[in-house]
Amino acid sequence: MTNSLPTSVDPEALREVLDGRWAHVRRDARENLGDRDFLPVYGETMQEARERVTRAAKKLADSGRVGFGFPKEFGGEADSGASVTSIEMLAFADLSLMVKAGVQWGLFGGALELLGNRRQHEKYLRDVMSFDLPGCFAMTETGHGSDVQQLRTTCTYDPATETFDLHTPHQAARKDYIGNAAKDGRMAVVFAQLVSRGTNHGVHAWLVPIRNEDGTPCDGVTIGDDGPKAGLPGVDNGRLSFDHVAVPRDMLLDRYGQVAADGTYTSSIENETRRFFTMLGTLVRGRVSVGGSASSATKLALDIAVRYGNVRRQFAAPGEEREIVINDYLVHQRKLLPALAKTYGLHFAQGTLVETMHDVQTAVHVHGEEVDEAAQRELESRAAGLKVAQTGHATATIQMCREACGGAGYLQENRLPHLKADTDVFTTFEGDNTVLLQLVAKGLLTGYRDTFGSLDGWGRVGFVADMVRETVLERTAARALIARLIDAVPGRDDEVPMLDRGWQLKMFEFREKHSLEGAIRRLRKNSTMETHPTHPMTPFDMFNDVQDHVLKTAQTHIDRVVLEAFVAGVDRTEDPAARALLDTVCDLYALSTIEADKAWFLEHGRLTASRAKLLTSTVNQLLKELRPHMTTLVDAFAIPAGWKAAQILEEEADRQEAMAARDAELRAGTGQDTPDGTATALEVAPAQ
Ligand SMILES: Cc1cc2nc3c(=O)[nH]c(=O)nc-3n(C[C@H](O)[C@H](O)[C@H](O)COP(=O)(O)OP(=O)(O)OC[C@H]3O[C@@H](n4cnc5c(N)ncnc54)[C@H](O)[C@@H]3O)c2cc1C
Repeated sequence: MTNSLPTSVDPEALREVLDGRWAHVRRDARENLGDRDFLPVYGETMQEARERVTRAAKKLADSGRVGFGFPKEFGGEADSGASVTSIEMLAFADLSLMVKAGVQWGLFGGALELLGNRRQHEKYLRDVMSFDLPGCFAMTETGHGSDVQQLRTTCTYDPATETFDLHTPHQAARKDYIGNAAKDGRMAVVFAQLVSRGTNHGVHAWLVPIRNEDGTPCDGVTIGDDGPKAGLPGVDNGRLSFDHVAVPRDMLLDRYGQVAADGTYTSSIENETRRFFTMLGTLVRGRVSVGGSASSATKLALDIAVRYGNVRRQFAAPGEEREIVINDYLVHQRKLLPALAKTYGLHFAQGTLVETMHDVQTAVHVHGEEVDEAAQRELESRAAGLKVAQTGHATATIQMCREACGGAGYLQENRLPHLKADTDVFTTFEGDNTVLLQLVAKGLLTGYRDTFGSLDGWGRVGFVADMVRETVLERTAARALIARLIDAVPGRDDEVPMLDRGWQLKMFEFREKHSLEGAIRRLRKNSTMETHPTHPMTPFDMFNDVQDHVLKTAQTHIDRVVLEAFVAGVDRTEDPAARALLDTVCDLYALSTIEADKAWFLEHGRLTASRAKLLTSTVNQLLKELRPHMTTLVDAFAIPAGWKAAQILEEEADRQEAMAARDAELRAGTGQDTPDGTATALEVAPAQ
């Protein structure tokens, strides 16, 4: 090993790097959001959870910490990055509250702000921010969730009454899973097909009252309840149907499409599909928030598992009385440390994404600049990719942490079951992960060309013939640094030390480029089959035939984006000890990712059999080096102790004290191997 780590690293120095550009928002949350009312409550009924979370949402609104993203003239801060960061911090508290807040101020408020006009802002935004007007974001229908361009709800304009007729034509067109609908919502942003003068202009959004002051549904509105879910008990998800509901013309959120009194439709974006995806694109903040929140839950799960692993003992070493702390077992380190390393990588990638999103949105919405289409497409692709990576990692890691805590991990009082149940759906809402991966892949294949289409349609056959894009990978923000590291890789691949960052970057690049080229080759081949008289291939088959390959490409792309963000994060770390530690964690992220796909690298001649073995031993060596720093790595997440709401952590201090006393006794030769009152039953009880 070439790296030698300092014996101790100040977690504060690491925290400073992790806190990044919106450190003040994180600090403020840590100091002022420690309200017990924002924590989860274990064992309550759905009804109790919903009522508690509604009260907590109101309290949160009163704290003034929900307006970061809204315009300054309405009491907000016009700070998109701060708004995502504050949601990430809230995700350390009760996730039902975080999701409720996301629906109210992110989805409902965000759609009103970004799709609506000034008059609508003036009329409603303040009440949205104060939670006096609870609202819903009603897009998904029972029949269409991922392919929302095909929604069946219609909103048909009638010039005689200057109203729209909002209608649910059949059961599959009812709005489903809608947050805030079952209990609290008074209004909803409803997405439907806009029809005027006999022409369908595609999906648009309206602000529609759904409940009267007394809580009863408005005329023509039917409200249903989705009932108990796998998690998020405090969020009242429900169903909405509309029976010819009259919606005044001025309730259309008309930033991207306007209807005049006589029914004339106008829009600055002529192409209907493009208009639709532009509308959706403005709402990217929701997706970025879900990814970041998934990472917060992951950090909390790791924090609990690492601290538990520091004190939990099982089995004595041969010939010794002293029992082994489970974090000392190699396989336990294999569970926790690569997951921690990936969490760090994702944190840096999310930080870069939030900065990009903030800059793109500030240019347009605060400074009134023209939308930079290429930057916007790239932002959407990154947001989709990192949402997939972070939510997928959360699901896998929280489960792993649950198992790493054994039976204790299964008890509600230890938080992990809540984290697991509440984050489960993050892989589905704000875009199903598989469908989002296709969005990422589509961006890679077409090079962000101005081709829009429904996500599963994959566009026209001609697209393959048009595809002249060179497979030169677009480098991330850390472009110059990455190029320098790669160019500096000495000699032949199989001679380069595995801790050479340039070699690691090269492996990631190679895998992505090779996957992309392979997918393109197969698509080209299929497109020639299409014209082949004896083997005709439909456009659907043409793309479906390579879907797995295409998704693998997207996955490898995301891995590279994460590694490059991690490398840039290490590079800007000034404290030498913190930098050395991050550098090693980055090695572990890179090498454990390559190791997880070892078969691919072997198949493609980028690893020899002996290098593959060396890879495994190098990862093991990194684990050994990082073992003493595990606690520092979770300390640096700086999750306030009061937010963790895990009984096993509250007992940690007592246990450590008891164990130290017991070990001292054992060393003095007076110890007993049975519970003796100096240690809790937790450490010494035999396996059941
Ligand atoms: C708790 C919860 C809260 C929600 N809150 C809201 C809300 O407030 N507002 C709102 O509008 N919506 C909300 N939703 C809806 C959510 O956004 C949708 O459930 C999501 O978009 C997925 O749609 P779907 O359920 O129709 O799944 P489907 O799209 O039917 O997906 C089912 C399966 O098909 C696969 N699949 C689909 N298309 C393809 C393809 N092209 N290629 C390969 N596989 C494919 C998917 O990967 C998935 O495995 C919520 C959902 C839940 C569960």
